[in-house]
Amino acid sequence: MQADFLIIGGGIGGAVLGELLGRGGKKVVLLEKNTGPPGYLRPEILWPATIGVLCSLAPKKAWEQEAALPLGGIDLFIGRRSFSLISPALLGELQIQPWFTNPNLTRELLLRLDAFEIRRGVEVTSVLKEKDRVVGVRASDVTTGKQSEWSARWIVGDDGPQSVVRKACGFAMERTMFPLDFHCFGFEWPASFEGTTARVWLNEDGDRSGVIVLAAAPLPGTKGIGFVGARPGIADGTDTPEESWKRFCSANPSILEIVRERQFPRDFVSIRRGWGHVSQYGTGGAILIGDAAHPVTPIGGQGANMSVADACVLAELGLADAKDLLAEYERRRRPANERSMEFSKWATRLWSLPGWCGPVSIFQNILRCLARYPGVMRRAVRTAATAFETTTN
Ligand SMILES: Cc1cc2nc3c(=O)[nH]c(=O)nc-3n(C[C@H](O)[C@H](O)[C@H](O)COP(=O)(O)OP(=O)(O)OC[C@H]3O[C@@H](n4cnc5c(N)ncnc54)[C@H](O)[C@@H]3O)c2cc1C
Repeated sequence: MQADFLIIGGGIGGAVLGELLGRGGKKVVLLEKNTGPPGYLRPEILWPATIGVLCSLAPKKAWEQEAALPLGGIDLFIGRRSFSLISPALLGELQIQPWFTNPNLTRELLLRLDAFEIRRGVEVTSVLKEKDRVVGVRASDVTTGKQSEWSARWIVGDDGPQSVVRKACGFAMERTMFPLDFHCFGFEWPASFEGTTARVWLNEDGDRSGVIVLAAAPLPGTKGIGFVGARPGIADGTDTPEESWKRFCSANPSILEIVRERQFPRDFVSIRRGWGHVSQYGTGGAILIGDAAHPVTPIGGQGANMSVADACVLAELGLADAKDLLAEYERRRRPANERSMEFSKWATRLWSLPGWCGPVSIFQNILRCLARYPGVMRRAVRTAATAFETTTN
């Protein structure tokens, strides 16, 4: 039997879409090139609308046991001084409870759901067309190299920032590289740290050294994930990373509690991100969701939330057999995705300022201002928590 939907990529958006469509009675096949979870860690904040979707697919307890922890707030450290950037009281007042997750485990839990068929280790290499319509994909088994062809009424590309589906369909997308790299690592959450409060350490010397910021957050089972935001030159060895790193670590003893003997950048997983918005989300037979359509930076914690919001709208339209599915999907999702993209745009503007403008000092002042004026912080949190939500019905 031919599938109704063939989803390329088992990211958070693809897996949610597969489950929603499968539960609604559609035949769905998902092709994922990885045979298991990715080998690298990265942090991820999920906002309430997304958490609501995940909890409709698996019990809240399952998420919290394995993959996610309700975040108690964020503390900011500049040198040895500390500020409460986001307090538990502020989150309570806003009635916004974010989750901090290990994305690899979140995806694994989703891919274990059973309303859709999943084929792992199958990498899509091109799309198949009949006249102007995309009718399937050509793929290769990553272990044996065996070629296969798959067809469906709709091909959905959730295959990430380097999307093969996007490129094969010829959708234009301009990508802007983010001027900071993210260097990620996992660690044991120290017993001396406040239970569920994330921490951000700013490097006062950042304009000179290139190591700008370290952020860390807790996960279930005394684990934690952190990342360092640094100028790309640091990772390329054009600066003196070891010295910069040592100076930063000596600024506050709590930094050493999580980074320990780790050498920078050698012992981290380095990720360079670009952002952009594809010119159109689909064409006859093919449609894009998530990072394949609109890769973003981690700023504002939007990417995974956007991907799930895309999946929900596409599932609703797919289950209703909407006649003008493509146009409706575009109409409902583009404005929200544009809003989410603003975080990446503004952050790129800030970090693209020349060194003599002191972007690090500007960043420190913005954070100090947010910590000092809860009204401004309230607005910022509310915006991040809702920007990606679909508001056009
Ligand atoms: C350091 C960092 C921090 C982040 N922090 C946050 C945050 O706090 N909050 C947030 O919401 N977002 C965050 N993001 C962004 C978020 O991780 C992504 O936006 C999100 O994972 C996108 O999900 P997706 O389902 O669209 O695609 P992806 O997660 O990229 O999944 C794509 C899938 O497709 C598979 N694939 C790729 N090519 C093929 C192919 N040819 N054939 C078959 N399969 C293929 C891949 O293996 C992968 O499983 C962060 C990202 C980074 C790097």
